[in-house]
Amino acid sequence: MSLYGTYDEANIFARIVRGEMPAVKVFEDDQVLAFMDVFPQSKGHALVISKVSKARNLLEAEQQTVAALAAAAQKLAKAAAAALKPDGVVVTQFNGAPAGQTVFHLHFHVIPRYEGEPLGRHGEGMADIEELKALAAKIAAEL
Ligand code: 5GP
Repeated sequence: MSLYGTYDEANIFARIVRGEMPAVKVFEDDQVLAFMDVFPQSKGHALVISKVSKARNLLEAEQQTVAALAAAAQKLAKAAAAALKPDGVVVTQFNGAPAGQTVFHLHFHVIPRYEGEPLGRHGEGMADIEELKALAAKIAAEL
């Protein structure tokens, strides 16, 4: 999969939006969904996706989708910072496989960073779901 292609309705995030696959949700509205990354690179790693756009990446996204996702990523970053007290927060996203993208439904990562703790490898090591639920509840309490 590269930067260019067609949107795959069966991608994992589309399935989460449709309720066909479970996700540990932090918040949602009619436009966006924030949920915990199941292979977290650090404690509190979460994702923000559009519930309505079929953009595979940032280059394809409608302006209002970018605006909604940026606002949601900021909201999530602020709540994660308040809840988990990290020393930093990375907000990022990847476009195309060579850039590191593995799921081709536009998403932003919100990754809390802690002094002295190296970043885990991208997409490796599945989290304990109960731990993710506890983290999501803690972050949601700061919204
Ligand atoms: P990308 O590499 O496309 O920027 O990021 C995709 C992210 O989705 C990765 O960080 C990966 O851990 C996460 N991910 C992949 N499959 C699932 C899943 O089924 N559920 C959740 N919650 N996250 C997933």
